[in-house]
Amino acid sequence: MSLRKYLVGGNWKSNGSMAFAKSFTNDVLNKLAFDPKNVDVVVSPTNLHLPAVQANIGNNVNIATQNISLTGPGAFTGEVSACMAQDAGIRYTLTGHSERRSLFGESDADVATKTKNGLMFDMTVLLCIGEQLAEREGGVTNDVNARQLAAVREQVDDWSNIVIAYEPVWAIGTGKVATPEVAQETHAAIREWLAANVSKEAADGTRILYGGSVSDANAAELITQPDIDGFLVGGASLKPAFHQIVAACNEHKA
Ligand code: PEP
Repeated sequence: MSLRKYLVGGNWKSNGSMAFAKSFTNDVLNKLAFDPKNVDVVVSPTNLHLPAVQANIGNNVNIATQNISLTGPGAFTGEVSACMAQDAGIRYTLTGHSERRSLFGESDADVATKTKNGLMFDMTVLLCIGEQLAEREGGVTNDVNARQLAAVREQVDDWSNIVIAYEPVWAIGTGKVATPEVAQETHAAIREWLAANVSKEAADGTRILYGGSVSDANAAELITQPDIDGFLVGGASLKPAFHQIVAACNEHKA
């Protein structure tokens, strides 16, 4: 079992409504059964729904933005900067989600700058990395992850507030979850990369989450792997099944 505190993140993506934000917070998030000494729980609604969650949450659940600006405040229409998120009391952000990379053209360097910006404003950054199906089939998964991590390493020395979310793109929203063995092997390679390129402390201390079709049916088995420190959950984070995923992590750690 991992010695690190687990983290379970819920990424709502571009889903939800004001009514859903309030009812899901009251009916599911506020009833999650976990000990915050074992597990950090972080939910990431859209920026519009975030205040409704924030206002209703009462169960040691943290809030994250799904994205932050490449820039500081100023004439950047449509962007929300890390300093604004900090000012609004938000202590976590995602960066580098594969949808940001593939649909919105974020480069490895953009993701690295966004990660640096979040860290600069005292946020814990859930840095998402992962390979496409063709890259997995071509045997270059570890190279792709190393390239995405190296871009961040160029801009960030202190990794103590980075959580890595390994999310194979072929597993996101597809129902094709990585096997525990495949996820473990890749997480171990990420940890080796951290040891070689950041520090032994970073390798030992950085939480590496698995993301990609995590559900109440597979979470309990995945979390038994020694290098899996929790999950980043998309679809199932909008459903009552999120309760079972958090509970599986809490029970395994307890
Ligand atoms: C995600 O979007 O980060 C994700 C892992 O999605 P899903 O759980 O739906 O595969």
